[in-house]
Amino acid sequence: MTLAISFADIEAAAARLRGFAHRTPVMTSRTADELTGAKLFFKCENLQKMGAFKFRGAFNALAQFTLQQREKGAIAYSSGNHAQAIALAARLLGMPAVIVMPQDAPPLKIAATRGYGAEVILYDRYTQDREALGRQLASERGMTLIPPYDHPHVMAGQGTAALELIEDAGSLDLLLVCVGGGGLISGCATAAKHLLPACRVIGVEPEAGNDVQQSLRKGEIVHIDVPRTIADGAQTQHAGQLTFPVIQALVDDVLTVSDAQLVRTMRFFMERMKLVVEPTGCLGAAAALEGVLPVRGLRVGVIVSGGNIDAERYARLLLEAR
Ligand SMILES: *Cc1c(COP(=O)(O)O)cnc(C)c1O
Repeated sequence: MTLAISFADIEAAAARLRGFAHRTPVMTSRTADELTGAKLFFKCENLQKMGAFKFRGAFNALAQFTLQQREKGAIAYSSGNHAQAIALAARLLGMPAVIVMPQDAPPLKIAATRGYGAEVILYDRYTQDREALGRQLASERGMTLIPPYDHPHVMAGQGTAALELIEDAGSLDLLLVCVGGGGLISGCATAAKHLLPACRVIGVEPEAGNDVQQSLRKGEIVHIDVPRTIADGAQTQHAGQLTFPVIQALVDDVLTVSDAQLVRTMRFFMERMKLVVEPTGCLGAAAALEGVLPVRGLRVGVIVSGGNIDAERYARLLLEAR
C-alpha cells in the first residue's frame, strides 16, 4: 500500500513555508542532559507563529489551493490550535476563512481566531454535529474543508518540523513526538526515516487517551471516548485513515505519560528553560525527562509542539502540582 506522503512532499512543503513560518530554534539544556544522561534537542514549536506547529500544515494546505478555491476560502472545525492556524494562514494568503467552534470554547480562543480575521460560527456541541455543520457550510459557500490531521498536505507540512530539527541538530538516535490524530508524527516520521534510517521514532500520548498505542497493538484504528486529560491537543478519539498507515509503517512505538508527568515537565520548561509549553506540547519531553523510556547515552530529538495556554490555567496547573 502506498503511503499518503513521501519525503519529497515534505521538501516541497518546506519550500512553500520559507518566509512564512518561523524556523523555530532548537534548544538544549545542560540540566536536562544531566538529568537524563542523554543529549536532548528541543524543537521549539511553542515559538512558532500562532504558538504551535499546526501553522505549518495549515499553510502548506492553503498555499496549494487553486485560484477558485482561494476565492471561496477555507473552512475548519476545531476549538484548538488548528482553528487559529487556518485563520492565520488564510489571512497571510489573502483568502476568507470560516471556523466552526463550540459555543463553550474558551472566549480567549474565539477572540484570537476572530483576531486573525476569520469568521467564527458557533455551534452547540450537545445538540449539533460539527462535522455535518462543517460539510453543510462548505457546500453552501463553496469553501474547502481542511481537517486538522487527516490530509496529505497537512501531514507533509507538519513534517517540516522534524526536517528542520535534523538539519540543525545533526544525527539523532531517537525522535520523540506528541501524538493526537497523528498528523505531526506521520510527517515527522517520514522526514526522520528518510534522513536518518536508524533513528527510532517514538510517539507519546496521554495515558487516558492512548488510542494510537492501542491501534498499533491491534493492527487497526481503535476508537475511544473523549479522554479526560489536561493534554487538550491530544484528546482525539482515533487516528486518521491516512495517518494510521504511515504510523504503522514508520513509527517504532507509542508510549504514554500521565497528567502529573506533563505538569512536572511544564514546570521544568518554565523554570529551567524559560519556555511556556502547553500540556500537550510536553508529551515528548515528559517521556525523556520522567524516565518513561531509556535515553542514556543517546542523541534525542524532542518536538515541543505548542505553547498556547492561558495564564490562569497555566498558573493553576503549576500550583496544584506542588
Ligand atoms: C494538534 C496538536 C498535537 C497533536 O497533533 P496531531 O497531528 O493531531 O497528532 C500536539 N500538540 C499540540 C500543541 C497540538 O496543537
